[in-house]
Amino acid sequence: DRINLENKMAIAIENNEFVPHYQPIMDLTTQRIAGCEALLRWQSADGKLCHPGVFIDALEQSPLILEVGQRIIEKCVTDLCKIRDSLAGGLEESFFASVNVSGRQFADPQFIGRLETVRSQAGIPAKHIKLEVTERIMTEGPLAISTLQICRALGYKIAIDDFGTGFSSLQYLAAMPLHDLKIDRSFITQMMASDKALSIVKTLIHLAKLLNLNLIAEGIETREQLLLLRNLGVKMGQGYLFAKPMPYSEFLSLLRDSEQDEVRRAA
Ligand code: C2E
Ligand code: MG
Ligand code: MG
Repeated sequence: DRINLENKMAIAIENNEFVPHYQPIMDLTTQRIAGCEALLRWQSADGKLCHPGVFIDALEQSPLILEVGQRIIEKCVTDLCKIRDSLAGGLEESFFASVNVSGRQFADPQFIGRLETVRSQAGIPAKHIKLEVTERIMTEGPLAISTLQICRALGYKIAIDDFGTGFSSLQYLAAMPLHDLKIDRSFITQMMASDKALSIVKTLIHLAKLLNLNLIAEGIETREQLLLLRNLGVKMGQGYLFAKPMPYSEFLSLLRDSEQDEVRRAA
């Protein structure tokens, strides 16, 4: 099955079937769009949309992730360019697009060169691009970590994804050059019903504050969750309560609408 899936994915790359969808990341205080996360979708010729849950493990275990990862970065940077040119006010200083980057990509000696080429050709400052990594990068060896450090030095933003799951350890927080910490959706889902989950969320909020990291809550689905997180001082979040991941054109319309709302509010 694995070989069959790999063959299908190789053909899908040829046919440009891997595309990013975008989910807004909100400023929870102002309820404005602070940025977005690019999430991989496999869109086959028949229009069927396949989510990463079905193929991401196989993809990340295959060298094909390097090609797919690069294409997603290219597409995301091109889309950022189009957003900049389509909005009357251009890109806001703090606006960012997050891309999920697998440990294997960071261990690729060509990663930075390819990333920088795409970015500089598009004329997008590195601060608008956020690289989301998981703790699995720590198992990729020293090259992956030094790549991450160079990315930070070049001005890219770095976020640790799914924090609190897998084998994430506090040591990684010290070893990685991070800006953001993303609390995994599982804690947000459980925190209303479980005191223990809520305690973990509070501890992560405190930890992020002490380490001077920006905290992003994943998977906000209800107004109650939003209010609680806001009361606890969480500044940013994403989830179905605000919007599901959507194709680029829909995301652009959303940004345009919210820009017009701002103009109306200011008037
Ligand atoms: P992730 O990076 O933690 O992305 C967040 C996932 O949570 C996304 O699932 C998103 O659609 C989902 N989500 C967001 N808000 C909600 C919510 O309110 N409720 C629920 N139930 N789910 C929500 P998705 O798009 O299926 O992606 C799954 C995972 O696949 C991602 O988790 C990430 O680890 C991986 N992935 C996605 N795109 C890429 C990529 O381009 N490269 C790599 N290497 N991995 C990717
Ligand atoms: Mg992510
Ligand atoms: Mg996550």
